[in-house]
Amino acid sequence: MGAWKWYFGNVLEGEAPECRHDKCKMIFTSGGKYYKYWRCGKCGKKHSVFKNTSLENSKIPLRKFLMIVLYYYIGISAAHICELLGISENTIHYWTSVIRVRCTSIWNKNQAVIGGPGRIVEIDEAVWRRRKYGRGKKKRQIWIFGAVERKPEGGAGKNFVMIVPNMKAETLVPTMRDKILPGTRIMSDEWKAYARLKDYGYAHDTVCHKREFKNKITHACTNTVEGLWMNLRKFFPRTGCREKYLGDYLSMWLVRRNLQIQFEELIKEIVFDLTEKENELDESESEESDSTESELESDI
Ligand SMILES: [Zn+2]
Repeated sequence: MGAWKWYFGNVLEGEAPECRHDKCKMIFTSGGKYYKYWRCGKCGKKHSVFKNTSLENSKIPLRKFLMIVLYYYIGISAAHICELLGISENTIHYWTSVIRVRCTSIWNKNQAVIGGPGRIVEIDEAVWRRRKYGRGKKKRQIWIFGAVERKPEGGAGKNFVMIVPNMKAETLVPTMRDKILPGTRIMSDEWKAYARLKDYGYAHDTVCHKREFKNKITHACTNTVEGLWMNLRKFFPRTGCREKYLGDYLSMWLVRRNLQIQFEELIKEIVFDLTEKENELDESESEESDSTESELESDI
């Protein structure tokens, strides 16, 4: 245990807490080979390295916390992590939600524009449907817009997906102008909202999916972005996810696919960068007990 705290203190050193008594910043102090803590230079009061972090009031051992972050981020399911680490469902649901929320702030800080002259970006729309069983039979649907830059050698490069309120041109065109550089050659299906992309400095080729999967003249094709949807579909838990968590799920998927985030960076974000959103998370909430299922569909 000592070594983990040493790691935490040294590698993840946060901002010095203030001594309430002397109103001065505490000093990071070594109390032996494997032990570090915060100490007030005046009165000698001590604080744990977890002071002012999201672990401050948590009962989870540091080693298990670090394992949760690592396992979840690399794609091990919440249920499997419970078994591996012997932790409760509430604990895993709480921390996996925190990880996803933090991925949203990482993504908001780091996402980059895609495309540019000489580049091909495939765009497409998908719908996330929430299935309800029983009498209601209401199907709420949420639109997701996605874009992926093709690598020169083929395959998926930089990309983004986002929840959009609707699939109208007045929604999608400003989104695209914001995130896709002018001069990009855009390939899409024949959705009418994309009809005037040429007016905004893009080259635009379409493929009619009713007829063909690749345009015989322009060779336009949206296979790369279809692959993206398939990958995203696999990323969601089998039981689906709650609507309010959808955006954070997308963020985590985007961070994993687009950013080379180091483990320490991720931990720092989770431990130190407390966003307001986290306070809304309810530790007793278990999302997998929800009786609804959701599904991502791209064939529309
Ligand atoms: Zn003091």
